[in-house]
Amino acid sequence: MTKHTDRPTSRRQNRTLMLSVPLVAFALWSGGIGVQAAEPATTGSLPRILVLATGGTIAGQADPRATGAYKSGQITGDQLVQSVPGLDKLAKLNAEQISSIGSQDMNDKVWFALARRIQDAFDKNEADGIVITHGTDTLEETAFFLDNVVRGDKPVVIVGSMRPATAVSADGPGNLYEAVQVAADPRARGRGVMAVLNDKIQGARSVTKTNTTSIETFNSPNDGPIGYVDTAGGIRFMAQAPGFKRTTYQLPPGEQLPRVEIVYSHANMDAVPIEDAISHGAKGIVLAGVGDGNSSKQALDALEQAAKKGIMIVRSTRVRSGFVTRNVEVDDDKNGFVVSEDLNPQKARVLTQLLIASGVTAPAELQRAFTATW
Ligand code: ASP
Repeated sequence: MTKHTDRPTSRRQNRTLMLSVPLVAFALWSGGIGVQAAEPATTGSLPRILVLATGGTIAGQADPRATGAYKSGQITGDQLVQSVPGLDKLAKLNAEQISSIGSQDMNDKVWFALARRIQDAFDKNEADGIVITHGTDTLEETAFFLDNVVRGDKPVVIVGSMRPATAVSADGPGNLYEAVQVAADPRARGRGVMAVLNDKIQGARSVTKTNTTSIETFNSPNDGPIGYVDTAGGIRFMAQAPGFKRTTYQLPPGEQLPRVEIVYSHANMDAVPIEDAISHGAKGIVLAGVGDGNSSKQALDALEQAAKKGIMIVRSTRVRSGFVTRNVEVDDDKNGFVVSEDLNPQKARVLTQLLIASGVTAPAELQRAFTATW
């Protein structure tokens, strides 16, 4: 990534939180977390955590007109941080507002702003760790994107909640507390971007949302959590941090990644969605295939034609776990296809975008990037 000085300033708030100021807890959040579990620490030795707020249900508030309804992204990062008792004992916190959106509206512009701000904070040694507050719907994509573009071994933790701040038994305060716990812990270094929700620490490559409404929704189907965290028990990582350096990609200039479409496979599939993607200028197509990344003959023929035109074709799967394997039922070598290995379609899309943006044009090179982990 090139050195970035063009930080977005429009909605950013940058206020160092006064540790001596009494906590301004929201009524419904107060008492959500036991402050007694926090490790006592002296202010001088506290790690510096930069909180980057983007919106989501964790910043959501109830809609007074409807039972159960709420709006994402209503509360600022500052307010979120100040509403959680005991956070000031864990870290010296600084909150900045990057966006105030539900993550269904997450986009390249916010991704680039996040990536540039994090890199800048690390390059200038402004923070020992980062916590990003985010909606849960596309949290895994943002985690994976950042994992692939941010350099350095300091912890980056992404956190959200399934219930808004105004819900009975909101999960946001606990999740935010645990996210700061992890980001502030030296043992979290060198593990890439992590998602912390519901007492689990999960890696950016594996984590995915698996339930529409339950707080037990984030899981890593192929390899499980990399660790666990709770206010009483502290942090338990299941293994040492990997010794190797992550591959990271340059952000392209501007604020947009190349167009890559996901085409969802199903019974009675024809070529129309593929032709549609091509006619709208897709530089790559990720197949959310059936089974081992498969699709109908019509669809595979259309994808083969697209690959011949230089469009990157990546076979992923609509199945929740497992790997997509080369040259089993589909002749990837002959067709010029790439397989996504363990990456689900939404993450395969991000990696394909980054590789195309880096100038990769050969399927074999793209395949090496997908396979690099093994
Ligand atoms: N739609 C919300 C979002 O992703 C859902 C959530 O945060 O849980 O922003």
